[in-house]
Amino acid sequence: MRSPTTSTRDRWLQALDRWRHQPDGPASERSWAPSLERCSREELRAIQDEKLRLAVDYMYEHSGLFRSRCVAVGVEPGDVRGVEDLGRLPITTKADMSDDLERTPPWGRFTAVDEARWSSGGGQLFQTSGTTAQPRVFRYTRFDLRMWSWLARRATHAMGVRPGDVAIICFGYGPHVSMWALHYAFQDLAIPVIATGGMSTAARAAAIVRERPTVLCATPSYVLHLAEAVRAMGIDPADCGVRRVIVGGEPMPAATRSRIRLGWGGELHQTYGCTEAAPACCAYTCSDGMHVMEDALLLETVDPIDLRPVGPGRPGLTVITNLSSEASPQIRFLAGDFATLESAPCPCGRTHVRLRDGVTGRADDMLLVRGLTVFPTAIAEVLHGVAELSDAFEILLTKRGELDEMTIACEPLEEPADAAARAALATRVTNAVRDACELRPTVELRPLGSLDRTEFKARRVRDLR
Ligand SMILES: [Zn+2]
Repeated sequence: MRSPTTSTRDRWLQALDRWRHQPDGPASERSWAPSLERCSREELRAIQDEKLRLAVDYMYEHSGLFRSRCVAVGVEPGDVRGVEDLGRLPITTKADMSDDLERTPPWGRFTAVDEARWSSGGGQLFQTSGTTAQPRVFRYTRFDLRMWSWLARRATHAMGVRPGDVAIICFGYGPHVSMWALHYAFQDLAIPVIATGGMSTAARAAAIVRERPTVLCATPSYVLHLAEAVRAMGIDPADCGVRRVIVGGEPMPAATRSRIRLGWGGELHQTYGCTEAAPACCAYTCSDGMHVMEDALLLETVDPIDLRPVGPGRPGLTVITNLSSEASPQIRFLAGDFATLESAPCPCGRTHVRLRDGVTGRADDMLLVRGLTVFPTAIAEVLHGVAELSDAFEILLTKRGELDEMTIACEPLEEPADAAARAALATRVTNAVRDACELRPTVELRPLGSLDRTEFKARRVRDLR
């Protein structure tokens, strides 16, 4: 048996601590890590190589699921010398985790935390938000929460948050990772937080008007919904003093971005992550794009069919290797969001790769309609580009005989003058959707305010087929 000082866990955590520069400074220029974010690609690769080797050793010993998947493809920890060998390691999917959970409830074997570690160093439990499968539960440790805070502080610095800001965070404060990392980061940076768990949208809107936070954090759809609620108070959201809107949790097409910017004024920033492998803003926007925090994780993009890496410049599904966690340093986890890696240098000076246009869709959200793939984000892109429509919409999928039918319900901001104007608007929307998606929907115009507004992640599809 190994002595405690040479355990794979100790070696892993010591390496993470060694690369956690200036871990606990106050809000200042020191709260980011220029030596990591502007290092050369060679220096970055050396960090990644070291962390990957240690992560593989550690997960092989502590995650039964990772070990069994390695055994199945004939790979042992010693085979992985660094990032060049990443492709030899198996990709793990959400379905793999769910199967594992069914066999070994209630925790599964996909994390590296056992009862002893949870009771001695446990931090906070998080779970995935799936509606059908049993939620996959992740027991993150105290070490992880400190790491989250450090990573998220770096991200918030890049997004321009500074001393003097006040943040309002609009989410449920439940067991979903969502905006918890931002919450912890703001606390460490002495950025005051208005926490709004359990509040209604009207109450949150009133808090924004009354308390004038300078940073607003929520999902893109909820940010739009909040703007609507502020307008309902007779106030222009752009007059509320919000200097930065930080969104996450949903893909955000360009037309939605424009709507948010127009509505709130100020800068719009975005974070990307997932419960399983990147719960702490591991991708974030600088002033020129969305960087992947590459010293903290490896992000590959792979072909949706054969799962082979597609490399920079081509869209693929995200596969994440988490190089910054005690509980869940997942190795090649298929997060399954569509993104395109961009390796060109960024004007901000950071050397880490970027995601071109952020995350553009989510494989889980993909709809198959009459043999064509359609993403709700593509519909949002069309509808949010029509100035006469509100932000809310719903996609209804039904069958007529064997044929799929797609109905899109949306709301004019003002009731059209007459039946002809109403028909013209519906036709314009129909044609715009057909041009974008090659599918001709039935468009229904509903009264303003009649469609569901979202509290968290928008559920905009009802599939009744
Ligand atoms: Zn940049």
